[in-house]
Amino acid sequence: MDLFDAADDLHFGDLHITNDPETGLQAIVGLHSLELGPAIGGCRLYRYSDSDAALRDVMRLARGMTYKAAISNLPHGGGKAVIVEPEDYDEEDRRQMFAKFGQFVDSLGGDYITCEDVGTRVDDMNVVHNHTDHVLGYDPDAGSSGDPSPFTAYGVRRGIEAAAKFRWDRDDLEGLHVAIQGVGSVGYYLAGELHELGCELTVADVDDDAVDTCVAEFGARRAEPGDILAVDCDILAPCALGAVINDNSLPQLNCEVIAGAANNQLAEARHGVELRERNIDYAPDYAINAGGLINVAQEYRGYDEQTARKKTSAIYDTVLQILQRASRESVPTNLVANRIVEERVYGQALA
Ligand code: NAD
Repeated sequence: MDLFDAADDLHFGDLHITNDPETGLQAIVGLHSLELGPAIGGCRLYRYSDSDAALRDVMRLARGMTYKAAISNLPHGGGKAVIVEPEDYDEEDRRQMFAKFGQFVDSLGGDYITCEDVGTRVDDMNVVHNHTDHVLGYDPDAGSSGDPSPFTAYGVRRGIEAAAKFRWDRDDLEGLHVAIQGVGSVGYYLAGELHELGCELTVADVDDDAVDTCVAEFGARRAEPGDILAVDCDILAPCALGAVINDNSLPQLNCEVIAGAANNQLAEARHGVELRERNIDYAPDYAINAGGLINVAQEYRGYDEQTARKKTSAIYDTVLQILQRASRESVPTNLVANRIVEERVYGQALA
């Protein structure tokens, strides 16, 4: 990978790298854009095969955060941190590593605000907080925003309501059939919300217990994981994996709307074009699943659950605006979402 070519392609931004032999910390902070405010993004701890893999990941993830914050009207840019997980370490080594990481974050003077991500935990953020104020989600007992999943689920529900308004001119979801792929943290909360609103549910998960819970609590029907994308339903809500909309799954789809929490649902951008050709309304993933980010960003201003919920509720307007503009301009919704972001961040859509 040529670093500067990759940076140009992604319209990056700054990269900050630290290597601390004493604690073993090898970390990269990617600041994709600070145009709209300080960058918020999680810190990922992962055993990368080499520094190229870590760089590629941090740049891709940081760019994603710029888009998610901007589409949600947050006064924040996009950033992310990755820490290369050492081969061998114990809890004390981990503590030392995150202490050093806290100093690293602090040295960036507030341009980057960190939080949990894949591989990191609340107690890591507690250690980080001993060394910097630029950290969120560090102590749920001290009024922090806590588990983001219920907020993400609430935002997805609001996005589904917007899609129902656009597609069927409906103000309620009563009787609509939603198929949910993955009923883990977000999928479970989403199933609960939709059940309350009178939806019929079909759910699938590789974890049988998770499905049993939804059958018992919400009267959901069970589907096999291999069949869920083909279920005849009104709305498909992918809440498990990325890249589920691909060349193999597209011909099987039997829904009118796709609206779920999973990140990177389209295997490639061209699959958004195919969804449009098949007359399936797709709520772009990073717009509909931003509830967790909106919630944690609220913590930066002094956490208040009611305000966070109100701001998450506005995902309805965001998704409706995207669907309406896509229809007006006859372009796929994923492209429209990118255009809206780029107009906000750069003053014009990028090529
Ligand atoms: P999770 O790990 O709690 O739940 C995912 C569920 O999907 C698990 O129950 C898992 O068993 C199931 N699953 C895995 N493979 C499957 C398959 N092939 N078929 C059916 N089910 C399968 O994760 P989560 O926090 O609920 O997040 C779900 C998705 O939403 C992820 O893509 C995540 O990146 C995205 N997301 C989550 C949040 C959040 O606040 N947690 C925010 C934004 C985006």
